[in-house]
Amino acid sequence: MKKISLIIPCYNEQETVPLFYAETSRVLNDMDCEYEFVFVNDGSADDTLKIIKELAETDEHITYLSFSRNFGKEAAMYAGFCNADGDYVAVMDADMQDPPALLPQMVELLEGGEYDSVATRRVSRKGESPVRSWFARRFYRLINRISDADIVDGARDFRLMRREMVDAIVEMSEYNRFSKGIFGWIGFRTYWLPYENVERVAGETKWSFWKLVKYAIDGIINFSQAPLSIASWGGIVMTLVAFLYMIVTFVRRLLFGNPVAGWASTICIIMFIGGLQLFCLGIMGQYIAKIYMETKNRPHYIISESNKKETKKIK
Ligand code: UDP
Ligand code: MG
Repeated sequence: MKKISLIIPCYNEQETVPLFYAETSRVLNDMDCEYEFVFVNDGSADDTLKIIKELAETDEHITYLSFSRNFGKEAAMYAGFCNADGDYVAVMDADMQDPPALLPQMVELLEGGEYDSVATRRVSRKGESPVRSWFARRFYRLINRISDADIVDGARDFRLMRREMVDAIVEMSEYNRFSKGIFGWIGFRTYWLPYENVERVAGETKWSFWKLVKYAIDGIINFSQAPLSIASWGGIVMTLVAFLYMIVTFVRRLLFGNPVAGWASTICIIMFIGGLQLFCLGIMGQYIAKIYMETKNRPHYIISESNKKETKKIK
């Protein structure tokens, strides 16, 4: 019988963890399969860890890993992937936005043998602010155009994967992680399962608008070199413009004899070029910062507590 591992990153989820656990175990018990929950407490400041530990005492299906501080959802997912030992593995949010009711259908699709992973995709964004949705759509369109990671609009991190795919993810041990891109980059045959957006059952989202903007920029930098090309092309275009302007100035000098006209335009040009240079330098800086973090080779996360005898850590 196949074993299913569910990875649940939790950051201040004291209200949602018990609801999630009750509903998901009900679904899994009905499915009559082997399973484990891997709760990853991502440095919560509330009672999340206490609640998970209490649940772990009553149910041996529960494994938990607790981080020494908040390392972010990407690190929590990675810790889960490194420590889950099921044949089928999925990441699920604790807030029930990833409906457990989809699990039987997902397992069935994988059992069919035609696919290596069943991924879920929200077809609506009901309950989300229109501004947020608009920016999200633009982001997906942009990143698909400029990177080789195939990212579907509305894709969730909730996907059930075969062992081979999970091993490939664990092998991608880069420090700057962008899972949506990693899933697309490693390939494999994926079935997309659409569903209507579900709102959070309790608690609040951990993602402010600006945190999402930063996440989007990180995603682009991690999976595309297009910004660097933009900087180079900008440089080439500006050089051509400068060359043309040189000719204009030269001809003007020959025809009218006064090359010093136009203080205002000179200032505008200096400021424009100065801005453009800093902008391009900034793009380069972003990439260098990523290289800097990669070369430090720091661990992705630090586990301070767990009920697993031996926790795995890459690096
Ligand atoms: N999460 C986490 N670490 C963080 C932020 C979020 O582990 O630093 C978890 C959170 O507990 C939840 C999941 O990631 O289980 C998704 O977060 P949330 O529901 O706040 O995001 P949204 O669904 O609004 O995008
Ligand atoms: Mg959520």
